[in-house]
Amino acid sequence: MLREGGAGLPELHRTCRQTLHLLTVANSNLQGKAAIVTGSTSGIGLGIAKALAASGAHVMLNGFGDPTEICKLQQEITACSGIEVGYSAADVTKPDQVAAMVDKAQVAFGSVDILVNNAGMQFVAPVEEFPLDKWDAIIATNLSGAFYGIRSALPLMRKKGWGRIINISSVHGIVASVKKSAYVASKHGIIGLSKVVALETAGQGITSNAICPGWVLTPLVQKQIDAIGAADKTNNAAATIKLLGEKQPSNQFVNPEDIGNLVLFLCSDAAAQVTGASWSIDGGWSAQ
Ligand code: NAD
Repeated sequence: MLREGGAGLPELHRTCRQTLHLLTVANSNLQGKAAIVTGSTSGIGLGIAKALAASGAHVMLNGFGDPTEICKLQQEITACSGIEVGYSAADVTKPDQVAAMVDKAQVAFGSVDILVNNAGMQFVAPVEEFPLDKWDAIIATNLSGAFYGIRSALPLMRKKGWGRIINISSVHGIVASVKKSAYVASKHGIIGLSKVVALETAGQGITSNAICPGWVLTPLVQKQIDAIGAADKTNNAAATIKLLGEKQPSNQFVNPEDIGNLVLFLCSDAAAQVTGASWSIDGGWSAQ
């Protein structure tokens, strides 16, 4: 689905250069494959969607946002890759909407070969003060949403005898931090879900893995930088240094493109026997 309007030429050239870089780095070929990336209107999911399209896969974007901006994203990715890019506004917390998104991808692209469960949200509060509605929303988005997607897409993968399920967990799927009870629970949970699906699909051409990023500078993390800045009465730069310094030994953000490249590896033939694994990409955070 491609509509009128879109990014200016300089911006498109910049984005296309990034895309070509991805192609060179990944050297993978996903032509003829179809992918859904949940939560891909922003941040990490968008980086993954661009990487998959650059590698030749048809991509269904998903997530919230301004319809005009989402249209521009579709157009931008198509301009760089020549790939058909769809969009579903499904709320991943609603099983019927997730099933409809999978149907839509199947109708548009003929299959769903790659499912990246990436949609996620965060809220920070001590456990005894954690609002019930925030707990429910985080578990529904970060964990149940992935279950709904796998449940709907797996039969299509089984039919073809090929599939890749990639769940975006977090370093918080491996270690904990204070005030993140719901997030840490959901991210530990999604690693367990990935392992169960790996066992249930082992030897059938389908793999299921989790990726565990450290800090990536996206709107989700910018909110946490803003909270540090407000609490410490410091500027954005000082708050960013504090955020990285507390947890991530590299003192550098992970890029969405880096995660896109890891997804391409997990989709490649070289990763056919990589299943049930959790891949850290966290600047050394979980090594401590
Ligand atoms: P982001 O806020 O930039 O993007 C979140 C995306 O999810 C958006 O597209 C949003 O529209 C979508 N979304 C939210 N709720 C949804 C719902 N109910 N249905 C459909 N889409 C929904 O965040 P991000 O940082 O890119 O995070 C993406 C994933 O990566 C999340 O699962 C997050 O937990 C995980 N992660 C992020 C970091 C980080 O440092 N940014 C680190 C580790 C893991």
